[in-house]
Amino acid sequence: MQSLQAKDKAYIWHPYTQMKGALPALPITKAEGIYLYQEDGSKLIDAISSWWVNIHGHAHPELAKVVYKQFKTLEHIIFAGFTHPPAVSFAEQILKQLPHEQAKVFYSDNGSTAVEVALKMAIQHWRNLGNTQKVKILAFQDAYHGDTFGAMSVSGRSLFTEAFESYLFEVEFIPLPNASNIQNLVAKIESEGSAIAAFIFEPLVLGAAGMLMYEAKYLDMLIAACKSQSICTIADEVMTGFGRTGTLFASLQLTIQPDIMCFSKGITGGAMPMGLTTCNQMIFDSFYSDEKWKTLYHGHSFTANPLACSLALKSLEILLRPSTQMAIQEIIQEHTNFIMQIETHPKVKNIRQCGTILAFEWFTDTDTSYLNAIRDKLYTYFLKKGIILRPLGNILYILPPYVINRDELQYIYQQIQTALEEL
Ligand SMILES: *Cc1c(COP(=O)(O)O)cnc(C)c1O
Repeated sequence: MQSLQAKDKAYIWHPYTQMKGALPALPITKAEGIYLYQEDGSKLIDAISSWWVNIHGHAHPELAKVVYKQFKTLEHIIFAGFTHPPAVSFAEQILKQLPHEQAKVFYSDNGSTAVEVALKMAIQHWRNLGNTQKVKILAFQDAYHGDTFGAMSVSGRSLFTEAFESYLFEVEFIPLPNASNIQNLVAKIESEGSAIAAFIFEPLVLGAAGMLMYEAKYLDMLIAACKSQSICTIADEVMTGFGRTGTLFASLQLTIQPDIMCFSKGITGGAMPMGLTTCNQMIFDSFYSDEKWKTLYHGHSFTANPLACSLALKSLEILLRPSTQMAIQEIIQEHTNFIMQIETHPKVKNIRQCGTILAFEWFTDTDTSYLNAIRDKLYTYFLKKGIILRPLGNILYILPPYVINRDELQYIYQQIQTALEEL
């Protein structure tokens, strides 16, 4: 009999993987809490929350129970012309937690589609209002908003988008704001505002770019400038949402709120795909009309899948429990203590933290980049120690499920410290 690995190699093309020379995919046959189990029973700590999606740990018994119950009741229906209890309950509950301006919920099925919907809402908003001047989209140079064409267009031009560049729509990119450039950025928005339809951004942390962090006060200033020019603001909280940055949503650390918000990843606790785009009344009202052409003609087969909605509802309930909120605060405190221990190490550069995310650059003689050779070395080193850390180039980060405990975090920190001496 062929091994799972051999069959995988025979049949499957993996994401973000150059299949030639790729390390064989690691078979995982079971998972529980923060642990993933391999065929031989050995376990790995999931220190990156399975690509940033898992927040309550794997195979969570309460999540398993609701999805089983929901399946026996109603597993899926078309969402145009129909509705169902889990979709309505989740919409009602999530709106209570979001910034108050958010008024309507639009379901889809992943982060990229949540972004596509947001862009369509913003672009069509101006068309519906009869404004033909506002056509430009503004985004951050290093942004990552997903892999579909619209999402790629508003993402920074990089290795990921290179092959498709001539097919991507034009976007005006700006650098991340800081003390020295904020006045210029604000001035630019104010002078070009009449031509700008929307500004899309990852609030506080740019994930795929390498966990780049910037201050809330500067984002507030950019959003304020956008509001003064009636530019639609879109917060892509696909990665930052659901407790990741220490608050329920990163936007809750702002004083001025976006018009449109995008969610996915942690939304179902990381157990099923789901995307969500929410908007304020102003956006919704520009579509609300007797004229058919003002309709948002967008939807997916699995829009508002009842199984995913039931998981999202239960996951939100678990997230709001005081015990979960306390666990998040403990991770934040442990990370902060660890930073103090290693920040002066010569191999540690630009160490930073936002909520439960800790990241630093592993100093090498070559540039900081996604293809940096240290990446594979670090990845395999930590796998041997029983930890999944998946560096973005030479940027090492920890982004754990909230159920990780103090001892498990300490184990990860110790292995990083050993690596800093050994590698
Ligand atoms: C992952 C991610 C996306 C894309 O989500 P997918 O579900 O992978 O399509 C979009 N925006 C941000 C900020 C992300 O981190």
